[in-house]
Amino acid sequence: MEELLKRSEKLTIVGELAAGVAHEIRNPLTTLRGFLQIQRQTSQMNPEHTNLMLSELDRINLIVGEFLILSKPQATRFTSKDVRTVFGEVLSLLESEAHLRNVIFKTSFTNQACIVSCEENQLKQVFINVLKNAIEAMPSGGNVHIHIALKPEQLVAVTITDEGVGIPEDMLPKIGQPFVTSKESGTGLGMMISHRIIQSHNGTMDIQSQLQVGTTVAIMLPALKEKRTGAILGA
Ligand code: ADP
Ligand code: MG
Repeated sequence: MEELLKRSEKLTIVGELAAGVAHEIRNPLTTLRGFLQIQRQTSQMNPEHTNLMLSELDRINLIVGEFLILSKPQATRFTSKDVRTVFGEVLSLLESEAHLRNVIFKTSFTNQACIVSCEENQLKQVFINVLKNAIEAMPSGGNVHIHIALKPEQLVAVTITDEGVGIPEDMLPKIGQPFVTSKESGTGLGMMISHRIIQSHNGTMDIQSQLQVGTTVAIMLPALKEKRTGAILGA
């Protein structure tokens, strides 16, 4: 039943987005068609046009790629995982990119287990999206503080704080709506997808930001009681 609900929720998202996606993809397609037509007429390849065609193709690929995350068939295999481990794996994935951009990840993870029920790849995708935004918000580098804690109310709290450009107040409520972006080559899909994924994990995601100071993304997920495998010492 829950599975069915998730499935129908996904279909609704796809429906809601279809018009926007069609629009976003049609623009680069129109450009591509135009250049191909010129090439047919002149029988010549203009390298500038070829470059533009490649970047338009990249854009289509980027948009389609973001949607594949939502439609992956294994998307609803939930397992018990420790958020500290999942986040750790994401950090090693992004370490070299961060290094190249003079960004340093500063972690403070609790010693307590932070087990949640999650679709691991989806949760990783959320952390990747948020960390990438943090990196992109600091064009000349800086620190990203990542804090993982277990709250008394049985919640795992993950906060990611950057020292970046921040989000203008009037834009803040719109973050998470499809195609809302301030970046020249942004898709404005990362936060929308992240919100959906956190929702499907019965969690919440909250963004606070101050211009030229930085942004904090707080993600709360319901914690599971620590798995006890094998015999308990002393029992
Ligand atoms: P994209 O990164 O492709 O623009 P997202 O959905 O990931 O799309 O983010 C939407 C917008 O939210 C970004 O374009 C940016 O304006 C704003 N944003 C998100 N995270 C941050 C952040 N850490 N610092 C500043 N702005 C952010
Ligand atoms: Mg993004």
